[in-house]
Amino acid sequence: MSDYSSNIGIVGGGIAGLIAACTLQEQGIKTVIFERSKSPSTDGAGITISPNGLKVLEKLQLKDSFKAASFVPDNICFHQKNINITKIESPINFITSSRYILLQLLQQKYLDLGGEILYGHKYKSINQDKIKIKFTNDMEYKVNHILACDGINSSIREEFFPLSGPPVYSGYQAWRGIGKAEQSDAKFYFGKGKHIVSYPINNKGEVSFTAVVKNNSVTSDSWRIKGSQSELHKDFNEFDKNIFPRLDSSDEIYKWGIYIRPVLKSIYIKNITLLGDAAHPMVPFLGQGGCMAIEDGYAFGRLAGANAKNFSKAQAEFEKIRLYRKNMIQASSKTQGKIYHLNNPLTVSCRNIFLKYTPVVKVRMQKIWYYEIDKEVEKLIN
Ligand SMILES: Cc1cc2nc3c(=O)[nH]c(=O)nc-3n(C[C@H](O)[C@H](O)[C@H](O)COP(=O)(O)OP(=O)(O)OC[C@H]3O[C@@H](n4cnc5c(N)ncnc54)[C@H](O)[C@@H]3O)c2cc1C
Repeated sequence: MSDYSSNIGIVGGGIAGLIAACTLQEQGIKTVIFERSKSPSTDGAGITISPNGLKVLEKLQLKDSFKAASFVPDNICFHQKNINITKIESPINFITSSRYILLQLLQQKYLDLGGEILYGHKYKSINQDKIKIKFTNDMEYKVNHILACDGINSSIREEFFPLSGPPVYSGYQAWRGIGKAEQSDAKFYFGKGKHIVSYPINNKGEVSFTAVVKNNSVTSDSWRIKGSQSELHKDFNEFDKNIFPRLDSSDEIYKWGIYIRPVLKSIYIKNITLLGDAAHPMVPFLGQGGCMAIEDGYAFGRLAGANAKNFSKAQAEFEKIRLYRKNMIQASSKTQGKIYHLNNPLTVSCRNIFLKYTPVVKVRMQKIWYYEIDKEVEKLIN
């Protein structure tokens, strides 16, 4: 069995885990990723990466390759059902892509940096005193610190932050798929208690959509439950069907329930630190969950490097710069859902007037999109 006693053990090889792992390796800190999947993810679901996330990809020298394999939308357009409200020019460094592309680039970078990913390792338990992690395949490893990057259903969070409670259904059900369309903008369509977002994910005409409906009957949180086009169109019957990209078959449609967890007062305990969705899952209405995972991974990596492997100090500083921001964005994402789904004709008109005649989107997103995690880290370590 390999000796990982001088490595940071990262549970979960998603966005947070891989970004943390790459940043740590670059700082000369050895890591190992334990991932429950048996092989690298091939999930083609869409993802938008705003300038705050792209900044980190630039630091990891991945910006150009990510951009080249993705799409840079011309505008962000807003519609009330099918009627155009307004459009704003897309910010520079706003990229629409596929999760698969992002993960693939990160995995390759991590391996090039000498990192190791152990697939088929589903977390089972931690012995915190001995800093040992055990997996359901009965393998057990001693490491020197633990990063819990195991996503919204984090078992580590469940076990070591028991007061936080399990994930709860947010009341929103989402549909997703990837089809074909001639589209160069990111588009939002609002309706009563529902909205649709679509954007190209590459230069090959592939367009991702997410359609969200308020629905009080609890739906599973699995991303892989198949839906059908007829069910989708039934849920969104007041919208023109052509809003959705062309799908060759219903096989490409998935539906699932969006879950959240309560805010935590602290995101570390002894030698375990929570990152990404394990720490702060959020409703996806600002497109920031992945970007927060990126900021988290980078921040922890740099702080651990700067504190010469004094992980307790890195943890305290990490919490200091991350907790407020993540809680703020978690709350703003919730509010955004309410704004998208307004019901009352008067408030709908007000929203649309604000969108059309004021720079509300740019002002609201300023603090989120133009935050530079590298500068925040520098302030702490210099
Ligand atoms: C509909 C929707 C749209 C979204 N759109 C955007 C967007 O446009 N932009 C954006 O920034 N964010 C978006 N997000 C949010 C984003 O997807 C998540 O916030 C992000 O994936 C979180 O990254 P993570 O690494 O923390 O978790 P994950 O990506 O969930 O990765 C967790 C990893 O841990 C592994 N794992 C889980 N349990 C275990 C275990 N027990 N043992 C070992 N490994 C384990 C998993 O297999 C996975 O590889 C969206 C989310 C949704 C639901």
